[in-house]
Amino acid sequence: MRNHLPQHADMLQFEVQDQQLLVGGKSLEQIACMLDKEVFYAYDRRVVKAQIDKFHQHIPSAIKLHYAIKANPYPPLVQAMRPWVEGFDVASQKEMLIALQSGMPVRDISFAGPSKQAPEIRAAIASGVTLHVESETELARAIELGRQLGTKPVIAFRVNPAFELKASGMKMGGGPKQFGIDEERLFELLPTLDYSEFEFRGFHIFWGSQNLRSDAIVDAHNNTFALARQLLKLTPVPVQTINLGGGLGIPYFPGESRLDLAPVGENLQRLLEDYPDLAALELVIELGRFLVAEGGIYASRITDIKLSRGQTFLMTNGGLHHHLSNSGNFGQVIRKNYPVALGNKMGQPASEEKVTAVGPLCTPLDTLADKMALPQAEIGDWLVVFQSGAYGPTASPQDFLGHPHVAEILL
Ligand SMILES: *Cc1c(COP(=O)(O)O)cnc(C)c1O
Repeated sequence: MRNHLPQHADMLQFEVQDQQLLVGGKSLEQIACMLDKEVFYAYDRRVVKAQIDKFHQHIPSAIKLHYAIKANPYPPLVQAMRPWVEGFDVASQKEMLIALQSGMPVRDISFAGPSKQAPEIRAAIASGVTLHVESETELARAIELGRQLGTKPVIAFRVNPAFELKASGMKMGGGPKQFGIDEERLFELLPTLDYSEFEFRGFHIFWGSQNLRSDAIVDAHNNTFALARQLLKLTPVPVQTINLGGGLGIPYFPGESRLDLAPVGENLQRLLEDYPDLAALELVIELGRFLVAEGGIYASRITDIKLSRGQTFLMTNGGLHHHLSNSGNFGQVIRKNYPVALGNKMGQPASEEKVTAVGPLCTPLDTLADKMALPQAEIGDWLVVFQSGAYGPTASPQDFLGHPHVAEILL
């Protein structure tokens, strides 16, 4: 039951025609011709836009939506999203350049990330993006580098909140963390700073990622607003902006269901009413995977089919070097299957036999799908992994074993 495809069926947001999966109206065979590549990621701009629309349907319009580029920094995708979101969050100098060159106004670009190095800080100051400082040393360094450059750094403080998130896929706040400055330390620090040395923007309260439970997110938002109000009182200059974090997850695995955004939106509306002091500021939610993961697929060609002691292996030209997270090696504790299908046999009934799809790397970790029910496969079929629009090529060890890098296309 755990690996059975129909459980995934509600996840498939792509069009199908004559049993062919279509991405942006093109079959995988057509995309392969367009790219002249037999293994690729394809992103469907309409699916990404639909997901952004869903966010806006539920979340009050007073809260701005930023895209965290690290989820998928493919420049054509970032470019396409530019008019659909109100800002970009970046985590490296390279991402910063992608964001700037998309035409996003510089005041809507923020640069977070632990252990920032002097060249990155300098790049952020020179460009004018908001630097989310994550330590006291980083603040001092930014002020000093700003002095050298003759430009005041634009600063927000990333806060490591004291509250812990319930049921998060990835906790990124609460307890000892390498991210941000502990809230209790900020309470001491903020009144002592010389605010003439930098341009102060506000706070970034980030508490976690990949959460599918609306009650946990509601709880985190309640805590975030309460903390923000305390922080607001501690600076002699006005706060302009508060980044409320992100955290909205998407279902990857059988048994996971979609996050219900309605209660999250209703609670935010109530918080805006209860906290007029905060509602008057620029409030931001920053999301990566929630916006882009469902809009992308990873397609590889089945090039051989092997039977080993009763187990059928679909041998493909794709693998963990392109898609580490699907292989279960990107932060997961136990490997579970992403939704998969044969992209040229959509809607065909699954055969009785469960099959395993693997890639070309000499390691048993290189598994694309483990004992999954798929239609009868043949050499030449397309194996498709869904929910692949985030943490794909740039989150994978593409040089491991030296096979070719993967192609990408936005349709
Ligand atoms: C990684 C990250 C994100 C994006 O996380 P998703 O789970 O992809 O939404 C957002 N903000 C910060 C600060 C991050 O580090």
